[in-house]
Amino acid sequence: MAARSTTRIVGGRIGDPTRETVGQPIPVILPEPGILFARRAERLESLAAADHPMADWLRFTARLSRAQHEAIATLPMAEPVAITEGEPPLGYDSHHREAYWRMALAVVLRAVDGTALPHQVREAISGLRARDTATVDALADAYLRGDTQKAERGEAVFIAAAVAAYFTHRAAVLPAANVHLLAQRGCCPVCGSAPVAGVVTAAGQAPGVRYLHCGLCATAWNHVRAVCIACGSSRGLALHGIEGDEGAVQAETCDECRSYVKMLYQAKDMAVEPMADDLASLALDMLVGEAGYQRNAANPLVIGGQ
Ligand SMILES: [Zn+2]
Ligand SMILES: [Zn+2]
Repeated sequence: MAARSTTRIVGGRIGDPTRETVGQPIPVILPEPGILFARRAERLESLAAADHPMADWLRFTARLSRAQHEAIATLPMAEPVAITEGEPPLGYDSHHREAYWRMALAVVLRAVDGTALPHQVREAISGLRARDTATVDALADAYLRGDTQKAERGEAVFIAAAVAAYFTHRAAVLPAANVHLLAQRGCCPVCGSAPVAGVVTAAGQAPGVRYLHCGLCATAWNHVRAVCIACGSSRGLALHGIEGDEGAVQAETCDECRSYVKMLYQAKDMAVEPMADDLASLALDMLVGEAGYQRNAANPLVIGGQ
C-alpha cells in the first residue's frame, strides 16, 4: 500500500447535472461472456505488471478470470428466463440456479489449481471439492446474501467466481429489448445487485455518459451523472482521486448519505475495466474510508470486506 504520509486524496465538486449534453445512450448493455473474462484477465495482468503493491493478488484474480472464461465455454446453452416488468429477471437472491452452475465451479477449481498457489488457497480448493452438493449450494446462497462466514471466505472466492460465470452466462441470452431499468436506478436491471463501479465513456454513440457495471452478472446500465447512485441526491457530490496518478479511477462521494462508489474514466485510460480497476485501487478505498465514507457495495471478490 502506498505510504499514507505522502498520499492524499484530491478532488473537486461535480458539475451541474442540467449541463449534461450527450446523445441518447442505450439503457442496458448485456454482457458478452465470450470476451469479458479474457479481457478482464488481460487488464488485471497489465495492472499487476506495473510494479503494483498487490501484484500477487491481482495475478491470482487474473488466473480466476481465465478460469471463468474456461468455465463458461463448458456450460450448456442458457435458456432465457421469463421477464416480469419491474423485477430483475435473474434476481441475485431469488433466482433458482440451474444445477449446472456447479459445473462452472468444478472447472474454475480445476483451472486455478496448481503448485504455485499459497497453502491456504490449495486448502480452500480441496475443501470445496470434498463438500457435498447441498453444502456447496448453501455456500453460494450465503455468498449471494452477503452472509459468508469468516471461516469460509477462502472457499467463497471460488464460489463467487463460479456464480458470476453462471449469472453472466444467463444474462447474456436475455432479450435485451425487454430488459428495462429498475425503479431503483442504482441496482442492476438483470440481477438487482449494486454495481461494482461505474464507467464514464469516451467513445461509442454517446460519449461522456455513465454506465454502472454489475459485479455479478456483468450487465452495464446507464445512470445519469451528477446524481448519487445510492440516495439520488445531487447535492454534496465530489470526486476524489489519488494525488499524482492520471485520474482514471476516482471515488464519487456523497455528503448526503456518506457513501461512495468508484468511477472509471475512459477519457483518461480507454482500457479501464470495472472489476479489475476496482481491485487494483484498494488504496483509494482506504483513503476515502478514512475520510468517513462507506462503500456503496463491496467488490464481489473482497468477501467479508466493507
Ligand atoms: Zn447484475
Ligand atoms: Zn447519496
